Amino acid sequence: MLTIAIASLSGGQGKTTASLMLGRLLSRQGYPTLLVDADPQHNLTTYMDLELQANQPTLLEFLKKSVSAEDSIYPAEGNENLFLIPADDQLDTVQDYLSNSGVGATLLKRRLEPVADAFKVCIIDAPPQRSQICLTVLGAADTLIIPAEASVKGYGSLVRTLDLLRNLQDVGATEAQVMGVLPFRDRWIGNSQTQESRAAVTGMCEEVGEELILPSIRESERYKQAINRRSTLSDMGYTELEYPFEVLIDKISKLSKKQK
Ligand code: ATP
Ligand code: MG
Repeated sequence: MLTIAIASLSGGQGKTTASLMLGRLLSRQGYPTLLVDADPQHNLTTYMDLELQANQPTLLEFLKKSVSAEDSIYPAEGNENLFLIPADDQLDTVQDYLSNSGVGATLLKRRLEPVADAFKVCIIDAPPQRSQICLTVLGAADTLIIPAEASVKGYGSLVRTLDLLRNLQDVGATEAQVMGVLPFRDRWIGNSQTQESRAAVTGMCEEVGEELILPSIRESERYKQAINRRSTLSDMGYTELEYPFEVLIDKISKLSKKQK
């Protein structure tokens, strides 16, 4: 199982959008895929249409090992290759558990090991803060996708995320490397990219090198529509908007083969 964290240390950078779209496309292409909602805001769980009762196990119980791992994994409706470990707002209470456990950074990694044979890809939607949950997510990851808005805020988010990653790599708390930086809400007017978007993407290139910059997710209502209709962009006739995800899937497929 290739474990991919989708992380970026600001709100609204496209983490949940990218997690969901990648999960849908990978599972459709035959990859048994496990999505993990690691954000107490639990947007991914909401988008997946999972209606949880208060007593049903989530990532909180999965991390605390208070139920067997399988009990926290739910199948997606209408998609036999897609599964979710959901979250609810109670997930915030795991922060103290992680910091008191002494092994917080490696906990999610260890909890995922027993289910690794059942899936080819695991995608973790990280929270926007530099919290204990974020640390355990990065600790579990083999590789990292950093979505960042094509704006001054997004550039800052990328810089903070890279800084955290380097600190964790430095102390051996993660082995993850950056798979790519995904510019989000890249704004074009007609055939010209706006000045702010261009400046932000240029800055991102300078941070990580051009080879790690993925094709942008353009500013467009279509992505939200695809999510709300539980559809894919290509099914809606917007195949060109799906291009960033095709490039990502190609990279994932190569990494997944290398892992074997
Ligand atoms: P948070 O840190 O709050 O969890 P996030 O990084 O997960 O945020 P998303 O929720 O994926 O970010 O996206 C932020 C908002 O942008 C959402 O309301 C989403 O519907 C919207 N959005 C998604 N794709 C696009 C797009 N291509 N253009 C404009 N808006 C978009
Ligand atoms: Mg989110």
